[in-house]
Amino acid sequence: MSTDNTSILLVYTGGTIGMIENPVTGALENFSFAQLKKHVPELQKFSFNIDSCQFDKPMDSSDMDAKAWRRLVDIIVQNYDRYTGFVVLHGTDTMAFTASALSFMLRGLTKPVILTGSQLPIGVIRTDGKENLLTSLEIAAAHRPDGEPMVQEVCVYFENKLMRGNRTTKLNAEDFNAFRSYNYPDLATVGIHIRYNQNAIHYDEVKTPLEVHTEMDTSVAILKLFPGIQEMVVSSVLSIEGLKGVVLETYGSGNAPRKDWLIDCLSEATRRGVVIVNVTQCKSGMVDMDRYETGYQLKSAGVLSGYDITTEAALTKLMFLFGQGLSVEEVRQGMMHSIVGEISML
Ligand code: ASP
Repeated sequence: MSTDNTSILLVYTGGTIGMIENPVTGALENFSFAQLKKHVPELQKFSFNIDSCQFDKPMDSSDMDAKAWRRLVDIIVQNYDRYTGFVVLHGTDTMAFTASALSFMLRGLTKPVILTGSQLPIGVIRTDGKENLLTSLEIAAAHRPDGEPMVQEVCVYFENKLMRGNRTTKLNAEDFNAFRSYNYPDLATVGIHIRYNQNAIHYDEVKTPLEVHTEMDTSVAILKLFPGIQEMVVSSVLSIEGLKGVVLETYGSGNAPRKDWLIDCLSEATRRGVVIVNVTQCKSGMVDMDRYETGYQLKSAGVLSGYDITTEAALTKLMFLFGQGLSVEEVRQGMMHSIVGEISML
């Protein structure tokens, strides 16, 4: 923990963590930061400064969208020079999407942006929110021996693990241990000590000014394959007017049924300029379209490999690249390369 000029901005967007049970109705309601201090008196024990701000109407993360991401980015950018790090309290349901989106929208970070939340409200005795909040703050305030922030990227901290934000997925609706980074090592593990995995944390060799991208083009869709999927389902999705990008969730190492109609639908869409990215439905591992005929046919139809990217990162990356007004070819190129560590390249 640092005792120097460290100052953290805590941003409350909404979600279970900031809720309390109404003693009369028993329903969960959002509460304010003043109440947060009451429920987490430990906050006063930190030797660094913590300021806070919140969305004027805290939102359930199911309501998150590109506009809310922009709001969050604006808060961070407006306060970037004044604070040494940022902790964002967020609902767990779409936290992996927000973390992925922020990683593309805030390029060249030299400070930590740590998202956290909880499964039980902070006003409940057995809450997991307290530990998640306090440890996130401690990580956001941590420095390397050379004085630089220990973490300089968008992360999710949840139940003893600090993870690269754009590698995370919510995997459990009930357990405290609710997030995983299946295809990338954890950035830190927390027990008695906080053990940072500095080989996995991203540090820019050459520091560049923060690059902010607030335009996200949401003309995208996710299409999940399943045994028995009908042509009408695939063709309806691919013919949505204005559709620019699709995350195609396939089986195993990127395989799809060997149906002529499927390949025809996909080929026709890619010829029209729809960027289709192949992401596996498996939690871990990588798409390899050269492995089986059932994958190779997708490649021939112009479908791109998402390698080991998550659906959350692939979708928000499409929004980000199209949001920059890039050509279809430029978006295709961008999807095949890692921008902020979202893909492990071979
Ligand atoms: N529905 C809540 C949300 O995502 C759940 C949570 O915070 O865990 O906002």
